[in-house]
Amino acid sequence: MREIGHFIGGQHVAGKSGRTADVFQPMTGEVIGKVALASADELRAAVENAKAAQPAWAATNPQRRARVLMKFLDLVQRNYDELAELLAREHGKTIPDAKGDIQRGLEVVEFACGIPHLMKGDYTEGAGPGIDIYSMRQPLGVVAGITPFNFPAMIPMWKFGPAIACGNAFILKPSERDPGVPMRLAELMMEAGLPAGILNVVNGDKESVDAILDDPDIKAVGFVGSSSIAEYIYARGSAHGKRVQAFGGAKNHMIIMPDADMDQAADALIGAGFGSAGERCMAISVAVPVGEETADRLVEKLVPRVEALKVGPSTDLAADFGPLVTREALNRVKSYVDAGVSEGAKLLVDGRNFTLQGYEDGFYMGGCLFDRVTPDMRIYKEEIFGPVLSIVRAADYREALRLPTEHEYGNGVSIYTRDGDAARDFAAKVDVGMVGINVPIPVPLAYYTFGGWKRSGFGDLNQHGPDGVRFYTKTKTVTSRWPSGIKDGADFVIPTMG
Ligand code: NAD
Repeated sequence: MREIGHFIGGQHVAGKSGRTADVFQPMTGEVIGKVALASADELRAAVENAKAAQPAWAATNPQRRARVLMKFLDLVQRNYDELAELLAREHGKTIPDAKGDIQRGLEVVEFACGIPHLMKGDYTEGAGPGIDIYSMRQPLGVVAGITPFNFPAMIPMWKFGPAIACGNAFILKPSERDPGVPMRLAELMMEAGLPAGILNVVNGDKESVDAILDDPDIKAVGFVGSSSIAEYIYARGSAHGKRVQAFGGAKNHMIIMPDADMDQAADALIGAGFGSAGERCMAISVAVPVGEETADRLVEKLVPRVEALKVGPSTDLAADFGPLVTREALNRVKSYVDAGVSEGAKLLVDGRNFTLQGYEDGFYMGGCLFDRVTPDMRIYKEEIFGPVLSIVRAADYREALRLPTEHEYGNGVSIYTRDGDAARDFAAKVDVGMVGINVPIPVPLAYYTFGGWKRSGFGDLNQHGPDGVRFYTKTKTVTSRWPSGIKDGADFVIPTMG
């Protein structure tokens, strides 16, 4: 059984708190490791290491900092297969999907390699008599990232890539459910030439998270996870004067207009609804066909596709999706399906009793499809985070637009149509942070920013893209004048350029 401790000051450190959590292999249900849960003192030790190392890293010129990231990209590529397998075994997603998880993280690190350009400030010559003004971006110091189980490679890289490129030292508190890949990424950063103490991984639960939120030396916290925890992180972190961005859960709708290509729409719903067993914050969990006839045509296309989904172990390259992350998650998702049935939704495909021969203890369920779900039902209002797709029939376009707009979550949304006017109107009016037009999972690429609205995101700046650099830096503005431009005598009036 693997013992997973922490990675502090450039080396592996065994946990000292005496508290651990089991790490499961969801495809078999076995416990394959024990991860240490850090105490507040262990978190503090990581902060001390980070604080001591950060000034020299900030003083390293940005091209050299970028070269470390370039080398890291190369090392991850060389270790791709090993990382993807480790990820799939701890998380449960399939190996090809695990590769996508790693790839989307690497793309943000690639973006961060442009840090010499991204951190450039502005300059105005002659803003007043003999006066020049310039601005510069400076790192914050020690910053932290707290990440969820569902993207154990991508989201840590979204956080530490830009933060470290900017000259900060980073404390990563990954999910205790799949800590293996974050630890390997930290090792690879060291191998790439990162100085000790610049990337520390502290494994843990609420105790270490609270220690991060309260630590006066941690200047910013980037969080991704469920909304209730995100809200807590935002409130407690900002009460301590930290910069906080906290991204939460989701209920992503896909609107299917009557003119949509129904095969394309159904295929998109299958991939976006059931990929990774629905454990994606950008998974589509609600399909909104517009008009009864569209709904009937969609149902006809969806039912055989959901029935044909191939659920298999994470190592089965032909599987569409694998198990859920834990037995607790599996039971939670099944109980939502039970709730939908008792609330009166029509369960067209029932995956609750699925078992996989030879893997009877794995955390599997089949795909579930509900029709005639209504906005007052719990299965519509709450995030299920499993392979369950709900159809909410809308009478017309206005009702379809109103559903995601009025939902408490506002992460992603999509519309399938051939009508450019409808798509344009939808993109402009819907109250959701990321919109897809004939694209089911509109995750913006690394050079745009990613972030949901309403209860899907707390804080002002998004993750990655230009916002990632803004979040992990502060701007200083310098107004300068040289003696030849200075008049004699004190001036008691506020300076203006008028
Ligand atoms: P989670 O909220 O349970 O855990 C996230 C992190 O918070 C973990 O590191 C965990 O250790 C920590 N944590 C858990 N309980 C805590 C507590 N009581 N106090 C302090 N810290 C605590 O989320 P999860 O189950 O790991 O991830 C799934 C959730 O993340 C889903 O809701 C999903 O939608 C969301 N998510 C959102 C995005 C996004 O960008 N909006 C991306 C991925 C996942």
